[in-house]
Amino acid sequence: MRSGGGSSADAGVAFGVDIGGTKVLGIALDAADAVVAEARVATPRSGTPLEGASPTEIGDQGAAVADAVAEVVAQLEAAVGAGSAGAADAPWGARAVGVGAPGMVDRAGRLRFSPNLPQGQGVDWRVLIGERLPGRKVVIENDANFAVLAEHRIGAATGYRHVVMVTLGTGIGGGIVIDGRVQVGGHGFAGEIGHMVVDPAGPPCPCGRRGCWERFASGGGLGLLAREAALAGALPGVVARSGGDPESVRGEDVTAAALSGDPDARRVVEEVGWWVGFGLANLACVVDPECIVLGGGLVGVGDLLLGPTRRAFAELVEGGSTRPGTVIVPAAFGERAGAVGAALGARAGGLE
Ligand SMILES: [Zn+2]
Repeated sequence: MRSGGGSSADAGVAFGVDIGGTKVLGIALDAADAVVAEARVATPRSGTPLEGASPTEIGDQGAAVADAVAEVVAQLEAAVGAGSAGAADAPWGARAVGVGAPGMVDRAGRLRFSPNLPQGQGVDWRVLIGERLPGRKVVIENDANFAVLAEHRIGAATGYRHVVMVTLGTGIGGGIVIDGRVQVGGHGFAGEIGHMVVDPAGPPCPCGRRGCWERFASGGGLGLLAREAALAGALPGVVARSGGDPESVRGEDVTAAALSGDPDARRVVEEVGWWVGFGLANLACVVDPECIVLGGGLVGVGDLLLGPTRRAFAELVEGGSTRPGTVIVPAAFGERAGAVGAALGARAGGLE
């Protein structure tokens, strides 16, 4: 273990927090970029429908999420402080906190649109979280932008200057690095790749449109394709595993069945892998990445997904037989990538 923490101003521990649809995950990163503490709490969800909710109601729900962020930071503080001499000294209290949120975070830290975290939409996170963490510098960005920062700096894409990261969870998160820098775009919304429409007549998306890429190529998309197949009688093993009702099949049932060798489940995973490769081939037309990092829970099935994804990408990308190869690799940090990147971003004072 490296000692002393060095003498530069940014030395020491930084905190990163990732607000997900189901959990708020925090990590503490030491000066050598090692994870030294982790904390998590469930993401608060109000039963109040957001449609037609008043600004006050929306604010209340956002406040509950901000409370959860503060709780995670308190847990990290306790964990790090407990094992560190001098934890009560001033530098610990000045620790920076990075916070990643799913959706369209503008450059002022306001969550403008978030299909997968509706209770946080419209909220000014810098104010809401900042007032719960007095005296700290709080850096707020899109979660996937933080995730790609982590993978690019110290994870699976180290050494590449042009990188796309795609996080396959409930939806799809995207982060883009061009010439070594994370791209946030003109308003902060670059990399919202899950909502590229790939089939205008496709299934409805929580964003209000139809046929977004994430409806086909995420954990949620896997569930959707599986329920279709199950209703057509094509997935007897998976239906049995999920309790006998085709309508209740979830993505997790399919991945578990696929990993245990169920050929029908494997076919559905392969179909999702094709959709992932299809979208990546389109992204390559825009970004021309040297490396594509796949993160999120769905990547847990490994080559069952990565194999079809790589094949579809090679077949569908423009000039596939003549262009230099693009490597497609799983994320090094798994579900922690967003929180690790948030800590890195906090230490650097932001992405830019
Ligand atoms: Zn959408």
